[in-house]
Amino acid sequence: MNSAFTTHEVLNQSPPFENVNLFASDRALMEAVNREGGGAAVERLTSFGEACGSADAFERGRLANENPPRLKTFDSKGRRLDVVEFHPAYHECMEMSVAEGLHCSPWEHAASPGGKPMAGANVARSAGCYMAIQMEAGHQCPVTMTNASVPALLLQPEIAADWLPKILTRHYDKSFQPVGTKRGATIGMGMTEKQGGTDVRANATTATPAGAGGPGAEYIVTGHKWFMSAPMCDAFLILAQAPGGLSCFLLPRFLPDGSVNALRFQRLKDKLGNRSNASSEVEFQAAHAWLIGEEGRGVPAIIEMVTGTRLDCAIGSAGLMRLALANAIHHCRHRTVFQRTLVDQPLMQQVLADLALDVEAATALAFRLCRSFDRASDAHAAAWRRLMTPVTKYWVCKLGPAVAYEAMECMGGNGYVEEGLAARLYRELPLNAIWEGSGNVMALDLLRVLQREPETLEIVMEDLDAAAGSDPQLKTHLERIQTMLHEPRLLEQRGRGLAEALATVASGAILRAHAPAYVADAFIATRLSGGAHQTYGQGLEWADTRAIIARASAG
Ligand SMILES: Cc1cc2nc3c(=O)[nH]c(=O)nc-3n(C[C@H](O)[C@H](O)[C@H](O)COP(=O)(O)OP(=O)(O)OC[C@H]3O[C@@H](n4cnc5c(N)ncnc54)[C@H](O)[C@@H]3O)c2cc1C
Repeated sequence: MNSAFTTHEVLNQSPPFENVNLFASDRALMEAVNREGGGAAVERLTSFGEACGSADAFERGRLANENPPRLKTFDSKGRRLDVVEFHPAYHECMEMSVAEGLHCSPWEHAASPGGKPMAGANVARSAGCYMAIQMEAGHQCPVTMTNASVPALLLQPEIAADWLPKILTRHYDKSFQPVGTKRGATIGMGMTEKQGGTDVRANATTATPAGAGGPGAEYIVTGHKWFMSAPMCDAFLILAQAPGGLSCFLLPRFLPDGSVNALRFQRLKDKLGNRSNASSEVEFQAAHAWLIGEEGRGVPAIIEMVTGTRLDCAIGSAGLMRLALANAIHHCRHRTVFQRTLVDQPLMQQVLADLALDVEAATALAFRLCRSFDRASDAHAAAWRRLMTPVTKYWVCKLGPAVAYEAMECMGGNGYVEEGLAARLYRELPLNAIWEGSGNVMALDLLRVLQREPETLEIVMEDLDAAAGSDPQLKTHLERIQTMLHEPRLLEQRGRGLAEALATVASGAILRAHAPAYVADAFIATRLSGGAHQTYGQGLEWADTRAIIARASAG
């Protein structure tokens, strides 16, 4: 070849970010897992981290998103099918996550009467989810919903007895068959209708008793859902208006006689991100469903499912931010500009370190919340769970898009093209803030807790006060929160401010107690006091940015 035309010798490009152990290379994650009670799972998580960060796994993630699911409404002769076809890579991701038990592991005790939850089960599972979502985000939707459905199913023991044995397996069974013939089952959720997702009390779908009605009885459901994700799940927990009010039902894809239930998928959503996951619009045309709990108690029945998915949103966003950051640092360590690697450029160090602080804080806060799910019988943990679920979901999920954007920019044009990870992460990250309670809804939920269960705030504030120790900035911030609370007239307008204030002080307190001083000092100085910044990469001139980046680096 004429050397004059060898213009495409590849120089100064970073190697692919792959074959990274997503557990062993993530110090903040490993420390959080050990600290919050998941230490027994470390060996298992280390091998799962290797599998999720392998080149094969990232390739699966790419393929599953570049080949999105397709709805097949009819067969070639016009008969209704109502099935969704996925790329094999999506199914492989599901197989991996289900084999790891991410769809059910905290509930294994429910298989035997009187069984006790395993210590640290939620923390261990969440660490798995944090890594699986880095491999591929969309498939985590049914994984999350299945895990979160269990407490709602347990409200109706005879229904739980039928379904739990299929949920608590480690077999992913993608076949479209009655659940009795399957090796494993997944569960979805249908609450949102066209006229409102937040205001589910406005749901128009109706449920009429097929016989006498009542808990566990069969109903006929007619109506629609505007978003019902993972439509190839084996059953869905849905809300519909029964004669006694809004109620929760289990609506399976197949009826007990083996015929297909009357779910008619209208179309799949054309989404910004989350492309590997199918999100359907569906009509229930006199479909059959079974009542969970009492008529009129639909929201209390499904609320545990909602709470579980909110935890997963926070964990998932933290995981995706971690990947965005690790990918950016990796690139900057290999890319040279003006004879110096990007990671050695002072201004880039400010940016990467600043990002790393938010990622570590988000991880620490999400896993702290997760511990409260493992200890729900403890009053302190229950208060944390109730108060800090909306706070954590609000703040961690809101950080996500900004982190993804800045991490993308660290890679320059390489970040903006679809072949890399950065663009997909950027499109994915807004979702966790929107579904399962958008930002304002989380702020309103926090205010509801303050009004109805004020004792939870006292418990959490006491905890934070103790954790703040003698740190003057944390103490001042806590006083600021108390001042906000003493102006109840303005609270509704200040819901977001209060959520953010609680999240940052809680994160700061965890970092102060457990992270290296160079991380805690930098986080507290820039997030809890000092001048306001609207963009990353400011205010850390005095900080040990090299140490912060080295800690966050994956290799
Ligand atoms: C990809 C995707 C998949 C989804 N999958 C599912 C699924 O499987 N099952 C399911 O049931 N739903 C699903 N959803 C729906 C999702 O949960 C809803 O979109 C969400 O709950 C918001 O409801 P909405 O879209 O009707 O918005 P609205 O309820 O109209 O809210 C719009 C905005 O107003 C804000 N808001 C609401 N009330 C107030 C208030 N009182 N004060 C101030 N602001 C307020 C909200 O925070 C939001 O920002 C999915 C959504 C997406 C994007």
